[in-house]
Amino acid sequence: KAKELGRNRSYDYHRELTDTMHSRMSLEQDLRSAIEGHHFELHFQPQFHIGEERPRRVEALLRWSHPLRGMISPHEFIPLAETSGMISELGFWVVRSACQQFMFWRQQGLQLDKIAVNVSAVQINASFANTIARIMEHLDFNPAWLELEVTESLMMSGTTEVNQQIHQLRTLGVEFAIDDFGTGYSSLSKIKSMPVTVLKVDQSFVRDINDDVNDYEIIRAIVLMARSLGLTVIAEGVETEAQQQTLKRIGCEWMQGYLYARPMDGGAFYERYVKDENRQDD
Ligand code: C2E
Ligand code: MG
Ligand code: MG
Ligand code: MG
Repeated sequence: KAKELGRNRSYDYHRELTDTMHSRMSLEQDLRSAIEGHHFELHFQPQFHIGEERPRRVEALLRWSHPLRGMISPHEFIPLAETSGMISELGFWVVRSACQQFMFWRQQGLQLDKIAVNVSAVQINASFANTIARIMEHLDFNPAWLELEVTESLMMSGTTEVNQQIHQLRTLGVEFAIDDFGTGYSSLSKIKSMPVTVLKVDQSFVRDINDDVNDYEIIRAIVLMARSLGLTVIAEGVETEAQQQTLKRIGCEWMQGYLYARPMDGGAFYERYVKDENRQDD
C-alpha cells in the first residue's frame, strides 16, 4: 500500500512537473510574441515628499496584459524574461517608454523631478549604458531625470562589467537607487562606496513598523545612516496613516504606497496629477 502511494505520488509529481514545463514553455512563447507585438504597458506610481500633494517623482512599473490569462504580474514574467534572454529588449522598451511619458507630463506642466525605472541584474550587459545613452539622446531627455532601481545584491556583486556600466551612466548624470533595501546583505559600511543616491526601504519593514520593534529599529537605522551619508530614503508600500506618521517621526521624508496612490496607467496619471496643473495655468 505504501509502495503504491509512493508510486502514485511520484507519478503525480512527474505529471505536475511536465504541466509546469508546458505552461512555462507556452508562457515563454507568449512572452516572445508579446514583445514583438508590444503587448506591454507601463503603470506609474507617484512618490511624495512629506506634506506635499503633488508628486515630484514617479516609478514606472511594467504590466503584461495577456490575451487569455489577463494581467500577469512582473513577479511572474520578469524571471522568465531573464532566463529566456528577452529581458534586455524588454528593459530598453521600458526605459524608452518611461522617458517619453515623463517628458510628455513635463511638457504638460507637471513639475516632476525624476522617473524611476526598475532594472534587473541580467539586463546590465556590455551595451547597456550605451543603449540607454542613445535612447536619452534621441529623445532629448535630460539624464538627471532618470533613476535606475537595482537590487542590493547587484550593487554588492561588484563585477567589473556592471561597475563600468553604472559608472558610465553616472558620468552622464543618471542616478541609482537600491530597491527593496534591507532585505539583502550589504553591510552599512559598504553603502558608502556604492554609486547610489537613493535607498528604498523594503515594504516588509514598513508593513510592521508599528507592530515589530525590530522593523522599526531597522528603518530608523537606515534613515540615520542615510542622513549622515547624504542619501535619500524612500519608504515603499506605505498603506496606512499610522505607518506614515511613524515614518515621518523617524525622519523619512519620501513616501510611496497605496495610501497615496496605486500604480495607474498613463491616462489615469494624467487625469489625476497633470490636468489640474494645466487648469491652474489657464
Ligand atoms: P518593486 O520595484 O519593489 O515595486 C514595488 C511593488 O509594490 C509594485 O508591484 C507595486 O505595485 C507594489 N506596491 C506599491 N505600493 C504598494 C503598497 O502600498 N502596498 C503593497 N502591498 N504593494 C505596493 P508590481 O508592480 O507588481 O511589481 C513587482 C516587482 O516587479 C517590482 O518590485 C520590480 O522588482 C519588478 N518590476 C516591475 N516593473 C519592472 C520592470 O520594468 N523591469 C524589471 N526588471 N522589473 C520590474
Ligand atoms: Mg522598484
Ligand atoms: Mg521595492
Ligand atoms: Mg523589487
